[in-house]
Parts: sequence; C-alpha cells; structure tokens
Amino acid sequence: MTQAIGPVRTCIGCRTRTLPSELLRVVAVDGSVVPDVRRRLPGRGAWLHFDLECLRNAERRRAFSRALRVQGSLDVALLREHLEQQHRNTTSGQPRGQQETRKQVDPS
Ligand SMILES: [Zn+2]
Repeated sequence: MTQAIGPVRTCIGCRTRTLPSELLRVVAVDGSVVPDVRRRLPGRGAWLHFDLECLRNAERRRAFSRALRVQGSLDVALLREHLEQQHRNTTSGQPRGQQETRKQVDPS
C-alpha cells in the first residue's frame, strides 16, 4: 500500500509547489480574479497561497493573466479583499471575551 500524496499545485505568487489544500483556487470572471472557495467554478483556475505577499508577487509578474490565459489585465480587488479577510480571521480572529466580571458584594 503506497499512500499517494496526490497532485501538487504551484502557487503563482511564490512558485512553491504544495498541496491544493494549502492553496486558494482562483478563476477569472468578467475581467476579475475571483476566489473559488468551493473549487466548483468552471474554467481555468490558478492557485495561490492565502497570503497577500503571494498576491503581490503574482500581480507584479502578471501571473494571473498568464495562468488564467486571459488577455489584458485582471482586477484583483475581490481577491485581495478575500485574502485580507482571511488574514484578519487568522491573526486577530479570537473574539475577545470581554466578560464583565461583576463584583459580587457580599452583604454580610
Ligand atoms: Zn505562495
């Protein structure tokens, strides 16, 4: 029994090859790069880390247009928003339990 590692994908930002579960699939829709969270959107997809740095790298290289086979520039605003949201969730996502501890005054 050999356990298959499965297919690896390349992050178009940093060119690291890794498992698809580590990456976000994106597709081009109407000139925009949109995150395909459920991985169900049709068409050509590209893969990117959940990392704004990788997004920046991919943008600079025009990797989206190349990977998604789109002519012209693509708008990444939606994708950036998505990543920023993810980032916020993982870094400061812990809800602060501001439970007011009421001092129970003992009337005795
Ligand atoms: Zn990356």
